Amino acid sequence: MGIVSTIASVAPIGFDGHLIEVECDTSRGLPGLQIVGMGNKAIDEARERVKSAITNSLLEYPAKRITVNLAPAELPKDGTHYDLPISLAILASSGQLDANRLKKAVFAGELSLDGKIRAVSGIITIAEMARDAGYTSLYVPVKNVQQALLVEGIDIYAVATLKELYLHLKEEVTLPTAKATTRDNDVGVSPSGPVLDDVYGQEQAKRALVIAAAGHHNLLLTGPPGAGKTMLAKVLASLLPPLTSDECLETTKIHSLAGVLINAAVVQRPFRSPHHTSSQVALIGGGTRPRPGEVSLAHHGVLFLDEMPEYPRSVLEALRQPLEDREVSVTRANGRATYPANFILIGTMNPCPCGYYGDPTKECRCTTSQILSYQKRLSGPLLDRIDMVVHVSRVPTNQLLTLKSSTNSQHSSQKKAIADAQHKQFSRFKSSKRYNNSLSSKEIHSLSPLSPEVRSLLETAANKLSLSPRSYFKVIKVARTIADLDNSDTISPTHLAEALQYRQHS
Ligand SMILES: [Zn+2]
Repeated sequence: MGIVSTIASVAPIGFDGHLIEVECDTSRGLPGLQIVGMGNKAIDEARERVKSAITNSLLEYPAKRITVNLAPAELPKDGTHYDLPISLAILASSGQLDANRLKKAVFAGELSLDGKIRAVSGIITIAEMARDAGYTSLYVPVKNVQQALLVEGIDIYAVATLKELYLHLKEEVTLPTAKATTRDNDVGVSPSGPVLDDVYGQEQAKRALVIAAAGHHNLLLTGPPGAGKTMLAKVLASLLPPLTSDECLETTKIHSLAGVLINAAVVQRPFRSPHHTSSQVALIGGGTRPRPGEVSLAHHGVLFLDEMPEYPRSVLEALRQPLEDREVSVTRANGRATYPANFILIGTMNPCPCGYYGDPTKECRCTTSQILSYQKRLSGPLLDRIDMVVHVSRVPTNQLLTLKSSTNSQHSSQKKAIADAQHKQFSRFKSSKRYNNSLSSKEIHSLSPLSPEVRSLLETAANKLSLSPRSYFKVIKVARTIADLDNSDTISPTHLAEALQYRQHS
């Protein structure tokens, strides 16, 4: 008589985990293993891995009809981490393990044919779900354990082979609970990229970077090739304060789900620079096996799009939703999955296809219609989500890097000003950790009303420059950040005047 056994595991669906029960029944009949419960190809292939791993671990693979059900059946399952719970369910169903001893634990791991346990993606999602569902132990592959340990409140065991786990569950050997070795270093390192002091000249662009960093404003740098736009974009990432421990966990979770980092914490603010040939799925996320895209890998950091007009129009348009909602929703089998995507966008563009339109020293070879159609590649709705535009002029390449001084004085003082300005925003938004970029027009009126003097200055400027209602509003948001950098509760005429410099010229 076979026993119906149940082993717990977790299905990552988007950013969240769902508890999965792996049920197994063995019965008389033609020997074979059938897996039901909306698994995909990776799970179908588990049959061969599980059979070989059990046999090669010198355990008994039942010569019976084996049925494995992944419940609930309506949730789509993907991934190789069900190998381990499936094999344990088979061992329990055939009486080789005591099913009662497996009740308080969750298991995840891919098996190799010889019974070794291989690393999987999404381990933080799995660990958080296991803990939140009240399980006391989680068994993970050795090569995932450092990441699993970022989740507190559940005992983590690192297992190398199926045999080792079997002996531990039989109480013939005792595996120790895993201990974090790098916990102290998890949070708070600044990116090793260029800093403000490395940039020669470009004072207006540098100031714009400081404002963008302080209020999380999306920024577009325009200018000819060789103006140092890429370097300036990199400086933006290093101006941001270090990741907090919560941000570190969230960012690591995304990188783990994407499979780009499976056994370490993300400790630096992400700086993602996808190439313009990247597919829409790579940039936004999704696909037949849904994964986070670049917009989510840039969460809590910077998304850098070099030469924005070179990206396909469809990709640029798909950016609008994450820019608006700060998360991205992708389709999956039986529904949708959501990933966070709260990033600062920094884009660059040439003024024309050849790059030298308006350049004092080099002649532009483009026709007027070429220039116009090039500039139109960024649609109005996309530009509406960019708060600041700065023109960067060309500096001789040999002057781009100044002799590096021993102290980064400008950089560290500006970094402190940015952190202070952000604290002002957090206290204004009370409970939530938000930045001025996310201010709604209603909130501006209630949280930071304009003085009559500033309001009339803005009205005059809006008429003179024919600002659209959206541009009008963006000027106020940027002015609010400039006032925060100045440690001022009110927006002064000077703050407003500076904000007007970064408006889009239409
Ligand atoms: Zn040109």
